[in-house]
Amino acid sequence: MRTAYDVIIAGAGSMGMSAGYYLASQGAEVLLLDAFNPPHTFGSHHGDTRLLRHAYTGSRTYTEMALRADKLWTELEQAAGEPLIVRSGVLNIGTPDSSLLAAKLERSNEYGIELETLSSADMGNRWPGLTLRDSYTGMFEKRAGYLLSEACVSACRRLAEAQNAVVRPFTPLRRLEAERGDVRAHTGPGRLYRQSRSAQSRRLVRRHRTASEATDSRLPQGGGLV
Ligand SMILES: Cc1cc2nc3c(=O)[nH]c(=O)nc-3n(C[C@H](O)[C@H](O)[C@H](O)COP(=O)(O)OP(=O)(O)OC[C@H]3O[C@@H](n4cnc5c(N)ncnc54)[C@H](O)[C@@H]3O)c2cc1C
Repeated sequence: MRTAYDVIIAGAGSMGMSAGYYLASQGAEVLLLDAFNPPHTFGSHHGDTRLLRHAYTGSRTYTEMALRADKLWTELEQAAGEPLIVRSGVLNIGTPDSSLLAAKLERSNEYGIELETLSSADMGNRWPGLTLRDSYTGMFEKRAGYLLSEACVSACRRLAEAQNAVVRPFTPLRRLEAERGDVRAHTGPGRLYRQSRSAQSRRLVRRHRTASEATDSRLPQGGGLV
């Protein structure tokens, strides 16, 4: 059985499976270890839906990441050839003096995110199930919606495997040793996988570190782990 790979990913849920797919698409030899058989109901990705929205308050980085994620989810949906995103829109409701709604509006204007401001009567007409106080105001983010969470993990798995990534289900990582860029992943007594310090893995680590640092300079430096 093969034991050496360019990249070993421990945990093949939403994040890991997607990382595995993109790395394999870039030519890396990828091993994905998971304690269960993804998608499954023992992690964070379980169930049908996860909200996808863009107009976040707080750090601008979050909105920028959400917009970038939306682009990648859309590409993934095309590559998978099956529905993964439902653009139902997302409605935020608050009082007219809500600082969160004001910040959302400001962020939307800044990033060109379509946001419709609605009165309580507008919302009642559009969604008759809602009974709201007259004083409430709504902000409807039209292009937001939800991802089909388990289907996203399945799609990434299928596409990753099509790019020769190896998924080992029911193989929990027990111990990790990293020394001078070589990583040894122990999955049980006498069971060991190696992430070798090949030119390919060095190139990928460099490329991903540069991309990450462009997004957030607080990410840790150095080491042999992507
Ligand atoms: C109820 C709920 C609602 C949410 N709603 C939203 C939402 O609306 N919008 C949104 O964007 N996000 C939402 N999230 C968050 C989102 O689902 C998570 O951020 C995302 O699924 C996390 O992905 P992950 O890869 O970190 O975790 P997971 O998908 O859980 O993947 C982790 C994987 O690691 C495996 N694992 C664990 N230990 C080991 C080990 N030792 N060895 C090998 N494998 C191991 C697990 O089996 C699992 O498959 C929600 C989360 C929950 C729980």
